[in-house]
Amino acid sequence: MVTSNDYDKYLAAKAAALIRENFSDRGVINLLVVRWGKTKSKRVLGHIKPMENVEYGSIIEINPMLKSLNVPEYVLEYVLMHELTHYFQGFGSNHQRKHKHPHKGHIVEKEMARHGWDEITIKSEKWLKENWKNIVMMEKN
Ligand SMILES: [Zn+2]
Repeated sequence: MVTSNDYDKYLAAKAAALIRENFSDRGVINLLVVRWGKTKSKRVLGHIKPMENVEYGSIIEINPMLKSLNVPEYVLEYVLMHELTHYFQGFGSNHQRKHKHPHKGHIVEKEMARHGWDEITIKSEKWLKENWKNIVMMEKN
């Protein structure tokens, strides 16, 4: 049986691997928690926010519907990678911020493409466009 603890470990291990493989030159310079969110949001797949009451802390929360076995692994990785990119671009973290807005000018996509994620980005966006609504329908009731 897969427990919720297994899912937590799985997500933490995935985040650690993605940081190692893509941002090894950057380093995690503040406390970073990556966890499953509680809200089954139709629109928000993940988000990053500063930790409350901790001066240098960040929390990334991933939509729990992405636990579904019907969601390909690369889509979960794509969502995680997007949030980690925000982290390293200084949004919701104390990394140096070079841009004013987290999404303007496709800065996330550009950064991800630099790490070789352009194909996965296209593939994931396509998958989400075609299938996410079905996941939402299955998971919401
Ligand atoms: Zn974003």
